[in-house]
Formats: sequence, structure tokens, C-alpha cells
Amino acid sequence: MNKKELLEGMRGLVSDRVILAMFRVPRELFVPDDLRSKAYEDTPLPIGYGQTISAPHMVAIMCSLLDLQEGMIVLEVGGGSGYHAAVIADLIGAQGHVYSIERIPGLVAQARSNLELAGIKNVTMIQGDGSIGLPEHAPYDRISVAAAAPNVPEPFKQQLKIEGKMVLPVGRGYQELLLVTRKNGFSVEQKMGVAFVPLVGEKGFKE
Ligand code: SAH
Repeated sequence: MNKKELLEGMRGLVSDRVILAMFRVPRELFVPDDLRSKAYEDTPLPIGYGQTISAPHMVAIMCSLLDLQEGMIVLEVGGGSGYHAAVIADLIGAQGHVYSIERIPGLVAQARSNLELAGIKNVTMIQGDGSIGLPEHAPYDRISVAAAAPNVPEPFKQQLKIEGKMVLPVGRGYQELLLVTRKNGFSVEQKMGVAFVPLVGEKGFKE
């Protein structure tokens, strides 16, 4: 499959804005060199340390559900290769900013260099346990979580703005992708069954 076939194939499933953003972000720069020919297959790929870059359709669906707008401040938990952060960064524009937290130092270094090569400037990659969120830059307009938690971690709720939205996979074994919207309280919509690596940390799963 090539980039055009992959992305045109998602029309109707996700917003046109997300498809445009994914045309602009070079996924081939975020996958390991020896897997570059597979960058536009709709599949997760290994990025080292037992972790994976999510499948393109999953990044597209999560970005589409979040309804990302110019100028937003976004927290991403589970930065991995930096690709998903790069797509979010494109959607929120130069006035917006993504704080992406990743627990594995080697992946943080890789993601930083991938983002630099791709010329993306509005992402800050931070090393740490994102299961407690990132209070330093809270509250966030949007929170995007790329690793499965046992439940919706309380810190994520606290760090979300009123009217804010968060998308995250929850569950052990079988996981459900949830869209959480904060108004007076929190509304939770179940979107689809998914398979993510576990969120490992204080409010996640134990190592
Ligand atoms: N968004 C990434 C997908 C990475 S897979 C991409 O586009 O490539 C999920 C990532 O979550 C893994 O890299 C894993 O190391 C990370 N992770 C797991 N638990 C974490 C935690 N508590 N804090 C931060 N990152 C975590």
C-alpha cells in the first residue's frame, strides 16, 4: 500500500482535517530504518524496547474523536516514536503545543530526533511516568493516551479542562477505547475494542 491509498481509504471514517494532517506528516521518519518500506501499511510496527508505533487508522481515529483545534494544549501519554504527537501537533498548529510523556528513555531520545528530522517544533517530549499525567503544564484541552490503563486514572480527569476531551484505551486483556468529555461531570463513551501495550506506572499496571 502507498500513502495515498492508505489515507484515501480512511475517508468517511475520520475527519478530512485528520487525513490532510496525516498526508503532511512523514510516518517513514518515525519507524525503524529496516521497516521503512512498511510505513504506509495499516499496521502497528515494532519501535524497540518491546513497544510499537500504533497503526495509522488508530492514530486517525483517536485524533478524529478528540476534535483537535488550532491553538490547543494537548497532553499525550505514551510518546513512543513521536508519530502520534506529530499528527496532533500538525492539527493544533504553531499556536498549539503537545507535551508528550514517555517512560522509556531510549524512546524519548528516538522520538526527539524523529520530530527534529520531520521539522516539528511544537512538541515537547518528556521522560517520566505519565500514568500520573503531567501536572506541570495542566490543565489540558485534550489528553491522548496511547497505552492501556486499568481504569481512567484520576490525575487525567483532574488535569483536563472543563469542556476538555480525552481518549484512552482501558482494560486488561480486552480493551475498550473510551472518549471522556468533561462538562459539569464526566461523560464516558465506549467507542471500539482495541489492543494497546499496557500503561506501566503508579496509576497504571505494575511492572
Ligand atoms: N504514540 C506512540 C505509540 C507508542 S506505544 C507512537 O506514535 O509511536 C505506547 C507507549 O507508551 C510505549 O512507548 C510505552 O513505553 C509507553 N508507556 C507505557 N506506560 C507509560 C507511562 N506510565 N508513562 C509514559 N509512557 C508509558
